[in-house]
Amino acid sequence: MNTVLFPGTFDPITGGHIDIIDRSSRLFDRVIVTMAVNSAKQTLFTDDERESLIRESLKEELPDRTNIDVVRITGLLVDYARNSGAIAAIRGLRTPGDFEYEMQMAMMNRRLYNEMTTIFIPADEKYASLSSTLIREVARYGADVSGMVPACVARELRRKWDESR
Ligand code: ADP
Repeated sequence: MNTVLFPGTFDPITGGHIDIIDRSSRLFDRVIVTMAVNSAKQTLFTDDERESLIRESLKEELPDRTNIDVVRITGLLVDYARNSGAIAAIRGLRTPGDFEYEMQMAMMNRRLYNEMTTIFIPADEKYASLSSTLIREVARYGADVSGMVPACVARELRRKWDESR
């Protein structure tokens, strides 16, 4: 059974992430979405919120898929890969900038654990210019992000900024 990991911060999960998860789950037997916690990154959504939004989004967008799991990881991805028996980490590629960073990361991960390969999946045209950072920024000013993120995420973004006003 081929298990792959899809690591990320998912602050919050977007349509671009869902598309990569969708395609990975058709290609491989099992996909584990590994959500990074305790990283140096300051996040808008708490660990609990990010995880719930991933789970709810998967229910909304890919309701019949039974081969997708969600876990939180605190340490290195390669350490989790070693213990889970995953053969690859999936990363989405949007821009040449992504590629430069992702190649370095892939080489480092391979050096740390050469049983894990990084597989790049090109972003869908529809989502190629989308990032969690941009979504957070425009949502902050009340922009309508439906169509770019799952409905539950759009709702939570609205709630977050309404609360802070
Ligand atoms: P990280 O902090 O690890 O980059 P992200 O949550 O920002 O976490 O991204 C996780 C993965 O999803 C990365 O491989 C990233 O390239 C990919 N990704 C992010 N946004 C998109 C998108 N719009 N389309 C395709 N892949 C994406």
